[in-house]
Amino acid sequence: MEYSLRAQLENSIRAIPDHPEEGIIFRDITTLLGDASAFRRSVDELVHPYSGANIDYVAGIEARGFILGGAMAHQLSCGFVPVRKKGKLPHDTLCMEYELEYGVDEIEIHKDAVKPGDRVLLVDDLIATGGTAEAAVKLLEQLDATIVAACFVVDLPELGGRTRLRDMGIPVRTLVEFTGK
Ligand code: AMP
Repeated sequence: MEYSLRAQLENSIRAIPDHPEEGIIFRDITTLLGDASAFRRSVDELVHPYSGANIDYVAGIEARGFILGGAMAHQLSCGFVPVRKKGKLPHDTLCMEYELEYGVDEIEIHKDAVKPGDRVLLVDDLIATGGTAEAAVKLLEQLDATIVAACFVVDLPELGGRTRLRDMGIPVRTLVEFTGK
């Protein structure tokens, strides 16, 4: 019997209890990335619906979204756009604030990263509350990009991020769900 991707992901993503703080289960994808079959199958599955969708760019959220996004862009023969933590991008940027559990953070994109109407896939390793992805969506919308979908390997459904993006009209694609924070 073929090993299902979902089962493979459940087995290849490491759970680290109480990291970075008590009560959080950190879903560590470094073990997935180190598993050639799991990494390849994840990227194949993430891009699968979009192979004929005329995607211009994959936009990856720092830092784990860069690893997945670079591989996805290669597979789709499209460009890659980094969405980075504040202060990292060297040229003119747009900046968006988003809420963390305690306090706020900011992400940025180069103003000339995409043109109006460009078709973009957004990617990160995991969606939790959706705050980070929402900020990235807002940056891309300010540049008048067409966001075809937002893709994540892991969904933590109890934290509501998928619903939050859907309510903004963004189709969401995820490969595996874990319950608990
Ligand atoms: P959020 O903005 O709440 O959707 O959080 C998503 C971002 O935080 C992603 O870049 C994730 O990599 C990271 N993140 C949040 N919660 C976790 C978790 N439990 N395990 C691993 N990464 C997480």
